[in-house]
Amino acid sequence: MNHIQGSLLYEGKAKRVFACENPNRVLIEFKNDATAFNAKKRSEIEGKGRLNCKISSALFELLESNGIPTHFLELHSETLMFAEKINVIPLEVVIRNIATGSLCRETPINEGTILTPPLLEYYYKDDKLGDPILTERRLKLLDLISPSQKEEVENITKRANTILKEYFDSLDLLLVDFKLEFGLNSLGKLVIADEISPDNCRFWDKTNSDPKGRILDKDRFRQDLGGVIDAYEEILKRIEKDLSHAS
Ligand code: C5P
Repeated sequence: MNHIQGSLLYEGKAKRVFACENPNRVLIEFKNDATAFNAKKRSEIEGKGRLNCKISSALFELLESNGIPTHFLELHSETLMFAEKINVIPLEVVIRNIATGSLCRETPINEGTILTPPLLEYYYKDDKLGDPILTERRLKLLDLISPSQKEEVENITKRANTILKEYFDSLDLLLVDFKLEFGLNSLGKLVIADEISPDNCRFWDKTNSDPKGRILDKDRFRQDLGGVIDAYEEILKRIEKDLSHAS
C-alpha cells in the first residue's frame, strides 16, 4: 500500500477517500473491486484501479483545460489522486448520445439510436433504493439542488459531453453515454466529482463493427464478455498515445 496517512473518510464500491493534512483536500484511492447491478455482481479485477485512476486524471485535466470545474487536483501515484474535499450531491447525472443500456431495457427505443440532442437524465444516488431514475417533478421535490444549480449542472454536463465526445471521436472511439456526479467545494462552487472512466462511461471502438467486440467499458463485465482489463488498457493506450503526440 502507498503511504496513506490520513484517516479513512469514506469507502465506496470502487474507491476509498482519505483525509489529508490540508482540510480542503482528500486523497482518493481507486480500488480493483468491480461491481454491477447495484453490487449484486462483484469481482476483483487486477489493474482496474490503476487504469481508472490514470484515465480519470487525464480526462479531468482535459475538462479543466477547457474551463470545466472538477474536483481533481493532481495525481499522487498510480492508484491515488488528490482532489478537493467536497460535499457530494446524491445525484447521478447521465447523458446519452446513443441509446443502449437501461434506456433500451425500459423503453421501446431501439439499441443504437442516435440521440439528438443528447438525453440528460437524473437518478437518485442511493444503493438501498437502487439508484432510481427521477422525474423533473421528483427532482424538484427532493430539493437537492437549487434551480440555478440545476441549470449549472446541465450546462456543465452538456459542455463536458461535447468536449469528451469530440476528444474520443479523435481516438476512434464513440462516447455512447456516461454518468457524472457533482459536489460543492469549500467555496460552495459546483464541481464534477467522482471519476470519469470505463466504469461510468460507455465506449464503442469505431474500428470494430462487431456489436460485442466493439465494447470497451464496464459492459464487458456486466455482460460477462471477458477481456475487461484489456478494454480498459485500450482506452488508456489511446489517451496516452494522444498525449505523447501533444507533448
Ligand atoms: O445502465 P444505464 O444505461 O442507465 O447507464 C448509463 C451510463 O451511466 C453508463 O455509462 C453507465 O456506466 C453509467 N452508470 C454509472 N453508475 C450507475 C448507473 C449508470 O456509472 N449507478
